[in-house]
Amino acid sequence: MTDGHLSQYLHDLPPSTRNVTSAAMALARLDELDWTPRGGYPGSDVLWPVKCLLCGWEGLRFYSHLRRARPKGRHAGCAPAAEIANRLDQLGRAATGTCTCAQPHAVSAEAFHETALLLASAHADGDSKQSLFLAERLMGPCTATARRGRAAQRAFPRS
Ligand SMILES: [Zn+2]
Ligand SMILES: [Zn+2]
Repeated sequence: MTDGHLSQYLHDLPPSTRNVTSAAMALARLDELDWTPRGGYPGSDVLWPVKCLLCGWEGLRFYSHLRRARPKGRHAGCAPAAEIANRLDQLGRAATGTCTCAQPHAVSAEAFHETALLLASAHADGDSKQSLFLAERLMGPCTATARRGRAAQRAFPRS
């Protein structure tokens, strides 16, 4: 039952510090490339339902491909490859670098580190309400998605 709610952030993945870090970094990269997730982060080599912000197309993509901005044409029926850079510029950035959300997100390395540890422990205790609250701070939509992704990377660096 816990997973039913947490799945909006992590699809079929436990909320380990490694998984929430991967998810926060993936959400930042998606935002940068003008895609938006339609479901929880499933891991990098599992199909993820996403929406193209250039044209509204929805479909399944591997994050491992999106991360490297492949394919160059995004998906069948989207803007021609030659126009995509221009369109992306026109779209502008919703991200501001500052979290102005009603419920503040974990956008510093310290906050991300602490919140991720609290989430892992709340999940282990079966506290689904607290788990959901903490997961939102780490992976919910935020105006500072890119900054939060960098905070995640600093909080739990990969060797
Ligand atoms: Zn498109
Ligand atoms: Zn925020």
